[in-house]
Amino acid sequence: MRRFFVQNFGCRASQADGAAIEGLLREKGLASAPDAAAADLVIVNTCTVTSAADEDARKAIHRLHRQNPSARIIVTGCYAQRSPEELARTPGVALVLGNTHKDQVGRAVDAWSGCEDYHGEILVGDIGRQASFLSAPVEDASGDRTRPNLKIQDGCNNPCTFCIIPSVRGPSRSMPEEEVLRQVQALAGRYAEVVLTGINLGRWGREPGFGGPRRLHNLLRRILDETPVQRLRISSIEPMDWTDELFELMAASSRIAPHVHMPLQSGSDAVLKRMKRRYRVRHYEDRLLRAARLLPEAAFGADVMTGFPGETGAEFQQTLEFVSRMPFTYLHVFTYSERPGTPAASMPGRVPWEARKERTRELRRLAAEKNLAFRRRFVGRTLSAVCLENGKALTGNYLTVELAQPRPANQIVDVCIGALSPAGLAEAGALPVLAG
Ligand code: SF4
Repeated sequence: MRRFFVQNFGCRASQADGAAIEGLLREKGLASAPDAAAADLVIVNTCTVTSAADEDARKAIHRLHRQNPSARIIVTGCYAQRSPEELARTPGVALVLGNTHKDQVGRAVDAWSGCEDYHGEILVGDIGRQASFLSAPVEDASGDRTRPNLKIQDGCNNPCTFCIIPSVRGPSRSMPEEEVLRQVQALAGRYAEVVLTGINLGRWGREPGFGGPRRLHNLLRRILDETPVQRLRISSIEPMDWTDELFELMAASSRIAPHVHMPLQSGSDAVLKRMKRRYRVRHYEDRLLRAARLLPEAAFGADVMTGFPGETGAEFQQTLEFVSRMPFTYLHVFTYSERPGTPAASMPGRVPWEARKERTRELRRLAAEKNLAFRRRFVGRTLSAVCLENGKALTGNYLTVELAQPRPANQIVDVCIGALSPAGLAEAGALPVLAG
């Protein structure tokens, strides 16, 4: 029996694609190999979010080809969609399948069975017309077999000037409602918590042709009513898609984790405008404070970018000031780097690298302080948490706790937060809290 190995790069959406590709290959009668050296077919599922991601993919292809020169290598994913010729020239690459064609990986296997072969060929189409949806659940990225991610939405219609995603993943499209229910039902039998993800999750069900516009909060209500899932977590939603209905549903149901992740990117309206983000600081503030009123103990997280073209010191100070007065409990801070093919890459006013990095450090320091204060609030309190495989547990409001006694993974338990461990005090970003 022929064997395959899938090497995934990139975000959760990309991991979900990789898992779906594995399913397609199994349907074709292939078995999975433990590593690339033991495989007849190697799939490299790439990411192209930064130039560094491209380089990682190229290096991996070279390494995999060296390790196993007789394996056929298929490269797919976002880099394959953006620059297929570049990858097709790489030694060992048999076929490049863009995101438009990755669901056709089975056809390549059929062609080989019929003794045809590929030598650096390319199958890439117009991603702007992409309507198909590929997804399979993926377990936690850390290797912990808990908290599977279910991608229920792909693509994005927004025009953010720093982002390559719309040009490589195509327009917003959604997993059909009944399929979401079926998948959650199946996952709920094995896991205590299911994480719903997407590239732009808040747009789930909004595309034309979906059978009338649907809203995420209606879907969540159906999941709660029709499946036994113990806990649902919503991964990240753009500010203007965090509706009152969603917050109200979260406040009313103990089965939705009190965790709101809302990308901010900048606390300066001028920068948001250059980024072509579809909200201004006052809109963001309105959404976040509304959430904080309804969910006072929730985790509130955001992605923030430093050093976007033209970002002045004063504009960065606006971000710092905004972050400081908002009830954030953690931040993901990214240093802007030019992504060829995006409008921002050719904008004037490049911020020197040292200044970008210093702004990142400053923001991370502030985020760490806020995170520590949040963890301190819960010392002596009892919180509901899902047990992981590593002896830790994750509370609904996104605190990682070290369990005093081992408990089986994939159970929801009440944990009494004992004290911040020394590591928890020293590394404010790492979150460990001792629990009894
Ligand atoms: S919302 Fe903006 S940043 Fe997010 S995927 Fe869409 S274009 Fe990219």
